Amino acid sequence: MVYVNFLGLFQEEHRIIERMIFSKRRARAAAELRRLNLSSLLVAEPANIRYLSGFTGSNGVLVLLAGRTGVRARLFTDGRYTAQAKTEAAGVSVTIAKRSVLTEACVWLAQQKGVESCGFDPTTATVATLESMKKAVPAGRRRSLFRPAHGVVPRLRELKDSYEIGAMREAAALGCQLYEHLLTVIEAGMTEQALAATLEYAARMAGAEGMSFETIVASGERSALPHGRATQAKLPRRGLVTLDFGVILNGYCSDMTRTVYLGSAASAEERRVYDAVLAAQMTAVEAVRPGVTTGDVDEAARSVLRSAGLEKAFSHSTGHGVGLEIHEGPRVGAGQKQLLEPGMIITIEPGAYLPGRFGVRIEDMVLVTNNGAEILTPSPKAWTQL
Ligand code: ZN
Ligand code: ZN
Repeated sequence: MVYVNFLGLFQEEHRIIERMIFSKRRARAAAELRRLNLSSLLVAEPANIRYLSGFTGSNGVLVLLAGRTGVRARLFTDGRYTAQAKTEAAGVSVTIAKRSVLTEACVWLAQQKGVESCGFDPTTATVATLESMKKAVPAGRRRSLFRPAHGVVPRLRELKDSYEIGAMREAAALGCQLYEHLLTVIEAGMTEQALAATLEYAARMAGAEGMSFETIVASGERSALPHGRATQAKLPRRGLVTLDFGVILNGYCSDMTRTVYLGSAASAEERRVYDAVLAAQMTAVEAVRPGVTTGDVDEAARSVLRSAGLEKAFSHSTGHGVGLEIHEGPRVGAGQKQLLEPGMIITIEPGAYLPGRFGVRIEDMVLVTNNGAEILTPSPKAWTQL
């Protein structure tokens, strides 16, 4: 009983609260199934399984049965995860499958009373998956049982509960701490990969389970590549370096970008582009509040870069949702009509890229609050010359 987790609770209390959180999420999922007229849902994506049950194993299928009032859940996994499933998915019945987890889940599903339909996500299930699902159920039900139900769980995941907000605050704070550390070690002549390795080692030592995506260190001309992963290129004596990275802590991803200048003589153009991207980023953050469309937030950033003559240099969307996965809903891009709601966590990351010359991107994670936005990654973002 000495272990205290990030919510400041003892492990046992923590488990009880976790169980309540997962059953609340399953209740929300069941309500959504009733609304869609589906009596069950087959969940095969690891992040969705984790969200609804706590199970983190790599092989599993979760079946939710939505009754008129309650919800039942059964997790199918294999023998490697017997102990893990018991602890992690404490509120869920578990079947250790002898053959494919998908086949066993479908056989079981077809035997349950009152199950007329079962939703599955057509964006992640392959044709082969659907074939084997059908093969596992009696011939008479092959046509009627399975129905495409797009993004049921990912939609729920767009609104973070208080547990998730706590976890993401911690992940984002660790990101900021690591950025501070980077500022003390970065220097001309070291390779991008060495800098990335330093960051990743420090992240692991600080408790991160891993990085939420491949670390981006893009220096000099390479900063003009929006996704310049770290290479053997040496950091320049004079030039911009874009650092875009994230950690996974307690299952949740962080994501932030800062662009710093190495050396003493930045050009007026480098300063001008940096200031324009910073203004675009801050304007977009200001625009974040409930009831505003994500397209409006994108436009807030885009219009600033447009007036600086950099519209064409901003070649991607302004941001994305983040949570158990590094990219999730909502999308924050041009023309998107989705409304922001309190509890969403999105990134705001405009950039400007001048091919063959340099690029700048600045990214924060932002929580949509009841009346605005809270920046979860408050590391300084004013022009930084090292
Ligand atoms: Zn990023
Ligand atoms: Zn991002």
